[in-house]
Amino acid sequence: MPVLPILETRARRILSPVSGFLAEAGFTHSLTPARNCTYGCTYCYVPTMRVQGGLRPEDWRHWGEYTVYKTNAPELLYRELKPEQIIYCSPLTDPYQPAERSEEMMPRLLEKLYLRPPRIFVLQTRSVHILRDLKLLVTLSENTDLRISFSVTTDDDRIRKIFEPRCDSIEDRLQAIGVLRAAGLNVYATLAPVLPCEPKRLARMLVEATDNPVIGDPLHIRRLKPRGATTREAALKILDHYEQPQWAEAVFQQRLLEVLEDEFRALGRKFAAGPRGFACLTQSN
Ligand code: SF4
Repeated sequence: MPVLPILETRARRILSPVSGFLAEAGFTHSLTPARNCTYGCTYCYVPTMRVQGGLRPEDWRHWGEYTVYKTNAPELLYRELKPEQIIYCSPLTDPYQPAERSEEMMPRLLEKLYLRPPRIFVLQTRSVHILRDLKLLVTLSENTDLRISFSVTTDDDRIRKIFEPRCDSIEDRLQAIGVLRAAGLNVYATLAPVLPCEPKRLARMLVEATDNPVIGDPLHIRRLKPRGATTREAALKILDHYEQPQWAEAVFQQRLLEVLEDEFRALGRKFAAGPRGFACLTQSN
């Protein structure tokens, strides 16, 4: 993994009221500790949002090439937290992106969350680096309804390497989920997005790894979503290169979701996609 620049800025606010997909799923606010994400996944929707979410043109033009940390995020968070909030962290970057190793922003945010707990706090990540903060997460879970949504995008690590080469392996992610759960934390597996996979094997893998409903979201495509965030060209080119364009086609995706739902049902597990799936993260247990 190349060493990428980590820049700094000061934000005016840190909690943003949500709309669209996240609001539909039941979230009230999002928390984004940095702009741009050094994981730089080939399919990442974020740079296609253009100026939404405080992104700058340099972010979408140079996605994954640097990150900009909001240095005053902990103070802002302490000021803006309210007990009724249902917070998603983060829609615009992985909170445990590689730069987090040196920035150590998350421990400072978790401390503030402990002091002023919201109703539900959801951490969305694909990074085993979350384990660095295991003790803090356990402490926070005693004070608020903490849910960890762990992205597992395929059952095949060769596929993972092609689409998200800088991210942790699938095996390491499953092991991290095991460590988080053994510590008593509430962990969901999130197929977001669903990359090329073998559905039966993937369902078995996730049912063994977790005990919550499984959440899914196929690659966003313009045919089904004419506006807003969508899949980056880089991922669509990869699908074409490997002669697998159907993974970004509406009819195939619909069938894929049905197959996944059937596989999970056969294993006694609920599976839901899109905002209905993400709503599992905001509903009371
Ligand atoms: S980890 Fe998430 S936010 Fe970061 S590049 Fe990948 S998909 Fe985008």
